[in-house]
Amino acid sequence: MKANQQNPKSKTRCKPSCDNKGAQASSTRGRPKRLKVLNLTFNVLFLNDAQMAGTGAVGFCDPETQTIGLVGTQPNDSMQDTFLHEVFHSIVHVMDLKENETEENYVRRLATGLCTVWNNNPAAFKWWSGLVYCEAIKNLNEL
Ligand SMILES: [Zn+2]
Repeated sequence: MKANQQNPKSKTRCKPSCDNKGAQASSTRGRPKRLKVLNLTFNVLFLNDAQMAGTGAVGFCDPETQTIGLVGTQPNDSMQDTFLHEVFHSIVHVMDLKENETEENYVRRLATGLCTVWNNNPAAFKWWSGLVYCEAIKNLNEL
């Protein structure tokens, strides 16, 4: 879901939770505390269910306070998806991408934004890629 068009600076709580009780909660090791998004630094908070209670979301991006919030108990595959989802929101806000831009222009700028975030935050994306890599190794060991 995109940001509220009436107030593009409003907090976006739009990554809905999914019912995935059987999966393992994501590892806390290596979790990023901050993320540099172009020239701005976002704080990354890992929240418990109580702190997100009632929102029905597993993540949010608040460009006003430069905060990305993630439910810390979600499974690794969900955490990977949610983190990238909120990173995209932060890029959309920082680059002021508009829905009425052409698809090619939107995708071009989003790709450039993601490359920049990725290259400026290697530890965060090492953690991110390890979320699913660890799952794949675990699954191999269970064969
Ligand atoms: Zn969203």
